[in-house]
Amino acid sequence: MKTLILHHDDCLKHDPGRRHAEVPARVTAVLNGVGDIPHTEMLPAPRATPEQLRLAHAPEYWQRLLELEPTREPGAERVALDPDTFLSAGSIDATLRGSGAACFAIDQVFAAKAKNAFCATRPPGHHADATIAMGFCLLNHAAIAARHAQAAHGVERVAILDFDVHHGNGTQAIFAASPEVLFISSHQMPLYPGTGYPAETGCGNILNLPLPPGAGSSEFRSAWSGYGLPAVERFGPELIVISAGFDAHERDPLGQLELQDEDYGWITTEICSYAAANCGGRVISILEGGYDLEALASASAAHVCALTS
Ligand SMILES: [Zn+2]
Repeated sequence: MKTLILHHDDCLKHDPGRRHAEVPARVTAVLNGVGDIPHTEMLPAPRATPEQLRLAHAPEYWQRLLELEPTREPGAERVALDPDTFLSAGSIDATLRGSGAACFAIDQVFAAKAKNAFCATRPPGHHADATIAMGFCLLNHAAIAARHAQAAHGVERVAILDFDVHHGNGTQAIFAASPEVLFISSHQMPLYPGTGYPAETGCGNILNLPLPPGAGSSEFRSAWSGYGLPAVERFGPELIVISAGFDAHERDPLGQLELQDEDYGWITTEICSYAAANCGGRVISILEGGYDLEALASASAAHVCALTS
């Protein structure tokens, strides 16, 4: 079976501005990086349904985003939701494709039509909580995907593993009182958004693995081998959702971790090995951050190569 790569050109329409780090060219770089990898199949990402969004977000929140989205008329101003997070014409379609890709990926993996899947979509999602857009994120695709697996496929236990350089505060907040979802995040500390301390444990289902600025391969691999992966094993998930941010790469301008392409291949192989032995290989991965275009292409290629093998 193949690794699905899900994308839609609507993801290029979200435009936070020329000086913003989260540019449309990010997904173009990722697609260039993963485009020729054997044993992959590219499919268009569908839009998420309102019912899927409601699995992780308050209906009033989504309604407010719909009302705030600028029109497509020339000169329409983009709307600032916070100092970093914007709505432009096309943002709604873009983020709907991200959540839709994640839910479709779940459906394909559970129907045994794909080995696993990678959603090459934007804007990212892991900072968005049930009622707040922040940190470039509008909808929390990983949270929607985990809840969709539970609602549509009867899954009880889902692990969300987040190796973006920033703490996935939105995902943590959504699941802080949900023992059936395990959330593990490795991230740089101190760094935006300022959360992700080891003492933040939810109802025993949250594991934060902060790394100091300058940490690289050995610290990252020790954190996951020593704490993250054993916690996955103890929890025993039926599905793993990866929040795949590539901004802990040494080239990234927003973080000060020193990961190499090979580290993304390593963590992905570790996750897939566990999944193959324990949960039918069911893994879906969602693009989160990553702001150096060259590193995005090479690190996402290492990630997808490991998904296919
Ligand atoms: Zn990030």
